[in-house]
Amino acid sequence: MTMHTSRLSLIAGFVLLVLEMFASPAQARAPLAVSIDFPGGSAEVLGIDQTTRQIRIAPSAHPNRGWVCWWYLEVTGLEVGEMLTLDVGDAPWATPDRAAVSDDGKTWRQTDRGARHEKRITYRYQATAEKMWFAWGPPFVPADAETLVKRVAKSCERAEAFELCRSREDRPVWAIRFQPPPRQDANDAPPLGLWFQARQHAWESGSSWVAQGLIEWLASDDDRARTLRSKAEIIVVPIMDVDNVASGAGGKNEAPQDHNRDWTDKPYHPAVAAAQANIKALNDAGQFDLFVDLHNPGASSQNPFFYTSPVTLLSEQGAHNLEHFLAAARLEMTGPLAFKGETQESGAKYDKNWQSISKNWVTHNTAKHVVSVTLETAWNTPNSTASGYQTVGRNLGLATERYLRASPR
Ligand SMILES: [Zn+2]
Repeated sequence: MTMHTSRLSLIAGFVLLVLEMFASPAQARAPLAVSIDFPGGSAEVLGIDQTTRQIRIAPSAHPNRGWVCWWYLEVTGLEVGEMLTLDVGDAPWATPDRAAVSDDGKTWRQTDRGARHEKRITYRYQATAEKMWFAWGPPFVPADAETLVKRVAKSCERAEAFELCRSREDRPVWAIRFQPPPRQDANDAPPLGLWFQARQHAWESGSSWVAQGLIEWLASDDDRARTLRSKAEIIVVPIMDVDNVASGAGGKNEAPQDHNRDWTDKPYHPAVAAAQANIKALNDAGQFDLFVDLHNPGASSQNPFFYTSPVTLLSEQGAHNLEHFLAAARLEMTGPLAFKGETQESGAKYDKNWQSISKNWVTHNTAKHVVSVTLETAWNTPNSTASGYQTVGRNLGLATERYLRASPR
């Protein structure tokens, strides 16, 4: 052996030793990283432990943009099969029992029930891809609304996708309108008019999935959907507060004005002003009958329920129609997220600004026979998934068709 080769083998041995030092399983893993750089993204990273593979987050703070409760993040550096721990805090609204998870950013499932510790919750999830997404609930962002209404409008006769308005930050607020066939005889009664909208509160993503289920059912070949389309003009808005949804803010109680306390003579939000103008025009033409505002309620609700206008605001005919509508909803909204007859009034006891809540404005400003309600779909249950929410939307369509078999006017 020459001096030269022995020096080479010494160097090779040293290189091997160094490689071995870094070859323990934990060290070989790619580092976990978090990104929120996409529409709806929200997470403040409090810490990442690369050894225990734990990520601690809180929802991003958006000053003056409402409750800090929505979170939605992309995680990279995962090894398929490894156990990730995601620790989230710390408002009740921010800590669902189960988180939404996706490995393609489109289809969402739930994690197992997380473990609560004081105000925080820990979800453990075995990675199924190197890049995954986790969120408060199945996300639904403005591009999803646009794609949905354009796709459905293309597939359905006399349906059109349209921009209800531009938001304060100049984003389009997409909606879909189903038109009944033209009347054969000018003496025929004018068509019925129905208005559905979701997401006045940006964090309540489930309500947009309810709207999607409703829209897809309305456009379907189901005989009952055809019947409803043949006699009613129907408008559905999947996202009212596009700005807060896009930026990943909560929206609820935002300054200077919550969307659902903005139903006054001088609305701050263009989407509210546009909805009011459209509803008023239908009402003035003698063709407005039903308004449903889609929301998600508090964390403890296990079933969908309706908020109604205070009984003092209802005419005798309005009260009778409301009862009829709720009975139809009870028959059709059978679950798994089922309406079991629970209602609450949102009057003065509920909120001092009760008169500027959407359904109360509608009750106050439209014909006496109009039914105007808020549907609150439970979000903190094993059925609060994209498909569970869509079933609620389909059931809402069926309830509406049943309710309108007899003329509401
Ligand atoms: Zn709400």
